[in-house]
Amino acid sequence: MAEPRPLDISTRAVTVGRPAAEPDAPLNVPVVLASTYGAGGEAEYGRYANPSWTAFEDALGDLEGGRCLAFASGMAAIAAVLDLLPAGARVVAPRHSYTGTIAQLRDSAARGRLVLELVDITDSAAVVAATADAAMLWIESPTNPALEVADLATVVPAAKAAGAIVVVDNTFATPLLQRPLEAGADIVVHSVTKYLAGHSDVLMGAVVVADRSHHDALLSTRGLRGAIPAPLEAFLALRGLRTLPVRLERAQATAQALLPRLEAHPVVEEVRYPGFGGIVSIVLADAAIADDFVARVRLWRHATSLGGVESTLERRRRWPAEAPTIPEGLVRLSVGLEHPDDLWADLDAALTKAARPA
Ligand code: PLP
Repeated sequence: MAEPRPLDISTRAVTVGRPAAEPDAPLNVPVVLASTYGAGGEAEYGRYANPSWTAFEDALGDLEGGRCLAFASGMAAIAAVLDLLPAGARVVAPRHSYTGTIAQLRDSAARGRLVLELVDITDSAAVVAATADAAMLWIESPTNPALEVADLATVVPAAKAAGAIVVVDNTFATPLLQRPLEAGADIVVHSVTKYLAGHSDVLMGAVVVADRSHHDALLSTRGLRGAIPAPLEAFLALRGLRTLPVRLERAQATAQALLPRLEAHPVVEEVRYPGFGGIVSIVLADAAIADDFVARVRLWRHATSLGGVESTLERRRRWPAEAPTIPEGLVRLSVGLEHPDDLWADLDAALTKAARPA
């Protein structure tokens, strides 16, 4: 008999992580509010297990092709992964990683937990050379907000051959656009807060691993440190994940429709786009013009974070911790689901006025 055709990832985003199809069973795993469970089973206590987490983990694990564990935030997920390393381990990471990731790495380095080397993640030869005696290669691709893309096909096998654990922060691409475990990476981390949950109302993180021993170590760390998500957050994140394929398709199409208009706008000096996804960074002449621009938009919201249904933008250097190599006038656009013409009209008006301050 012929093998059944494997389900498309967009179908699996909708179907995985549901209760068994039985009469009167709900279609969704409910929000299970429980600090404790009847003794003698597998769950026992609310810091170790929750059915609302498990439903989310089953779905995201399926999409990424590994075993998933949910955490309280993306930062908590990152901390748990770094906890896998022995004291004094060398970690190679992109110099333009998310500011929080860099801050966490630097903090760990300052306290002697690890030795940090920052690299240009687009320079594959430099990444491979730096990884030769590293315990971990940390990749973020595309990077936030420079939108640099790592050549996973080159750097992942090289780092693995050198004995490093390879981690990819897949927050910007999501498993719809990039599946690092298939490229040989050991661990994927997510700020679920962004595209996966997708509605700017949830903070959550996740780790997906290929290897059972990493899963068991992370499960133990999560229970020990207690950086667990709330059941309601896990429920909302899974509800968001159900629509990820259509949301991302729409956001990407709109981002690509905006690109030529942004490129042709006389006030925009540079447009950065990794070739996929819904995030675009534009560079304006200086901080003052960029600040004026973000204050003038009406439909777009000036706010940090990204990946929600609503379009947001932010001048990233307003954060003192942002890398000094990110231009002062860089504004990161997170394209949402509004009509592209409405989004463009708002951007165009704000850009044009920002160019000629009163
Ligand atoms: N990774 C990336 C790429 C991010 O952009 C962020 C947050 O902006 C994080 C990790 C941290 O996630 P969280 O804010 O959910 O802790």
